[in-house]
Amino acid sequence: MDSFIESLPKTETHLHIEGAIPWELFDIRFPGEFPQVPEFRKPDFRYDDFQQFEKILIGHALRVIKSPEDYAEIAKMLFAKQLSQNIAYVELSFHAGMIEFLKISGECIIQAIRSVVPDGLEVRIFMGMRRDSYSSFLGPLLEEAVENWEGLYGIDLHGPEDLPTKDWIPRLWSIANANGRMLKAHAGEFGSAQNVKWAVESLGVKRIQHGISASDDETVMELLREKGVVLDLCPISNYKLRVFDNWDDYPIRKFLNQGIRCTISTDDPFSFGNSLNDEYKYLVRYLGFSASDIAGIARTGFQTADLQEYQKKEWINRIDHLLSLEEGGRL
Ligand SMILES: [Zn+2]
Repeated sequence: MDSFIESLPKTETHLHIEGAIPWELFDIRFPGEFPQVPEFRKPDFRYDDFQQFEKILIGHALRVIKSPEDYAEIAKMLFAKQLSQNIAYVELSFHAGMIEFLKISGECIIQAIRSVVPDGLEVRIFMGMRRDSYSSFLGPLLEEAVENWEGLYGIDLHGPEDLPTKDWIPRLWSIANANGRMLKAHAGEFGSAQNVKWAVESLGVKRIQHGISASDDETVMELLREKGVVLDLCPISNYKLRVFDNWDDYPIRKFLNQGIRCTISTDDPFSFGNSLNDEYKYLVRYLGFSASDIAGIARTGFQTADLQEYQKKEWINRIDHLLSLEEGGRL
């Protein structure tokens, strides 16, 4: 099963570049200063809370990221890791707050990332922002971005879900939609199913990042199914951030049984020490997923990707072929 997972063509549609700094980069930049495996990247480590997670992530990210060139270096290493796992399509976000904090250009960040996309990998770039990101400095830039920035595929809402949802958020999502940008939001990670409902109904998002708590509310699950909203799930992230305690409680099967489309991603591999292959292997190990279940997740990834129909078909045929070999080999 491990080699089946590794060889399977995959997509990754929930990934933050600041949370995806390859650990090796710290040794390259600061030789000897960082341990080979820090405590927080060990498989059994779980964060006390979201604040601890953010503190460790931001503290490290700011050591490395100062300029668009740093984004390019991180993206180049990240994309190489993704290709080595047979990932063919990626939706990657950068944090809008970095524009204000580092006083660097968001368009330059996008161009820097785009400049290192290798052959064989399709990459779509999103700008992520928090519920309190609309400052006097950043607000006008966010509006300019969704209207005019070249190479900005879409926007995403992230960070603490308990911050108030201000009016600028639906307004910006609506302008972004009118300008053909793809809409996402993090919801239902630590917040309730109502947050998921709000993201779908008030922001018009087509993809929810996480959405775990939707499993508490039949009507919200029905809404997701009816609107064809995709849940970009990150099981290891959810486990390490204590969104759930026991793997038996992880609702992915419940979602799939309800006809809700689900994909799998790593979220912040810097913080969780995970790879996309690990995510799939955990579904097998902890949730009893079969090769066919695994192939189904990978298939959904391509079906819901921004690719040409013939490309989707090629990838899905490849998945089906590998599945038949895997199942045939075990008869
Ligand atoms: Zn996320």
